[in-house]
Amino acid sequence: MATRSPYRTVDEQPTTDGDPSTAFVDLVQRDPTVCENCFQKTHDATVIERYSGLWGWDPVEWWTPRPTRTHAAHAARMTYGLTTSCTCGQVDGGKRRPISFRTACEYAENIISVLDEKNVSMDVDVLRDEVRERKRDPSTQGREDSDVFAPAVELAIMRGRNDRLR
Ligand SMILES: [Zn+2]
Repeated sequence: MATRSPYRTVDEQPTTDGDPSTAFVDLVQRDPTVCENCFQKTHDATVIERYSGLWGWDPVEWWTPRPTRTHAAHAARMTYGLTTSCTCGQVDGGKRRPISFRTACEYAENIISVLDEKNVSMDVDVLRDEVRERKRDPSTQGREDSDVFAPAVELAIMRGRNDRLR
């Protein structure tokens, strides 16, 4: 009798061709494995399928904390590895705003890493420049997420795409 493995892995689909104007929200802010405050990736999520006999395969998502990016949360808040505590100090979501110019530049690097892991092609220098410029501009510096990071990501992806076509 053939033995069947209780689990099998499911290949993750790379996200390369989404809408640039919603890329920051869709790929960074809405990713539950990314810190809401500083945008570091705190967990790796692997979707596997669990064989449950008669019922066939059930998809199950496993979260593995990234050791260098996370630290243990208070015991009362431990939820089997699902607690998203981050080295920036945020536990279980929430964010601190406004942030300094320097911090915004650091968070831009975190955003670049997250998008890079998702195989999003973009011009990273455009993203860095745009974050700096928007953070210096009094009319856009106040709302970092929607007025600084989101448009910087959009522009960087659009520039990246144009470079590919050239
Ligand atoms: Zn964080």
